[in-house]
Amino acid sequence: MINRLGMTMHPSIESLHKQFTTELQKASSTSETEALKVKYLGKKGPIQDLMKLLKEVPADQRPEFGKQVNDLKEHVTYTLLEKHNSLLEKEESSRLIQEKIDITLPGRKHFPGQKHVIIQTLDKIIDILSGMGFAVQYGPEIDTDYYNFEALNFPHDHPARDMQDTFYIAPNVLLRTQTTNVQTHLMEKEKPPIRIIAPGKAFRNETITARSHVFFHQVDGFYVDKGVTFADLFATLQEFMQKFFSPDIQLRFRPSYFPFVEPGLELDVSCMSCSGSGCNLCKYSGWLEVAGAGMVHPEVLKTGDIDPEIYTGYAWGMGVERLVMLKHQISDIRMFTQNDVRFLRQFSLA
Ligand SMILES: [Zn+2]
Repeated sequence: MINRLGMTMHPSIESLHKQFTTELQKASSTSETEALKVKYLGKKGPIQDLMKLLKEVPADQRPEFGKQVNDLKEHVTYTLLEKHNSLLEKEESSRLIQEKIDITLPGRKHFPGQKHVIIQTLDKIIDILSGMGFAVQYGPEIDTDYYNFEALNFPHDHPARDMQDTFYIAPNVLLRTQTTNVQTHLMEKEKPPIRIIAPGKAFRNETITARSHVFFHQVDGFYVDKGVTFADLFATLQEFMQKFFSPDIQLRFRPSYFPFVEPGLELDVSCMSCSGSGCNLCKYSGWLEVAGAGMVHPEVLKTGDIDPEIYTGYAWGMGVERLVMLKHQISDIRMFTQNDVRFLRQFSLA
């Protein structure tokens, strides 16, 4: 073969050129052109072998031989790429023809998300109590010892402080143990009649069990006016519980002690999980405590600059988690914070 400079192609270059041309013509897929690339242009391929031969070629023929090897390398590189691209195009178009989209397949449903069952219940509680004449008040979750304890008649050395293990974040600064702190803030600004509910989170440093958690939701009630009596408190809680659960819910009041009320009581409702016959949720008593309540202590009114000789009031605090557990017969309070979607999805708004 004569090259373009009129010089004869070296026999070994010429035979390699022929061999490559034949193999390239036979190649019918991109995987074959890939294989040819490795075979001819690889480090152990024949073109590299020719390069190694260069030093054995007589000095006067060496430049021409080198040029011919380079030309062959360029030729192989270029024609391989060209063939590869045209095969790639064919393969792509035949793949597209074969692929089909099944438009009869049903669409995939995406869970749109919803309010957490605790928030749904809070909404419902607020709705019922707003309808009964209570205004909604919010207060700080981080508060001082004064608003959470002292103004609520918990003196520093009072043993009642031991009843509520508290998360302190600085001396005298804490995560509120009850939403009752809202009423102490409110009495600084407003005078009776005061008729509010305070929904929100409360925190206690307790062992986490099926029945208690370190944080929970509470709705506090607070009503101060002339002539507010214990009977008003009973009637209000009874109306609420019957609206929240059902008209035949059973209530039980027990005398109890909280520093900010006098007298104090605890409100129990009949256990819905066992209908009162005894189960794990109610510790086999048939009853579940849902609220602490009582008449506002005269000292608390005095601290709020309200004259206890003229005004009286009642207060309660109820646990939202407890109410949800009763309503939906959930036996473990930890379910609310485990974020198991299978659990949460059960409480649809519909
Ligand atoms: Zn029970």
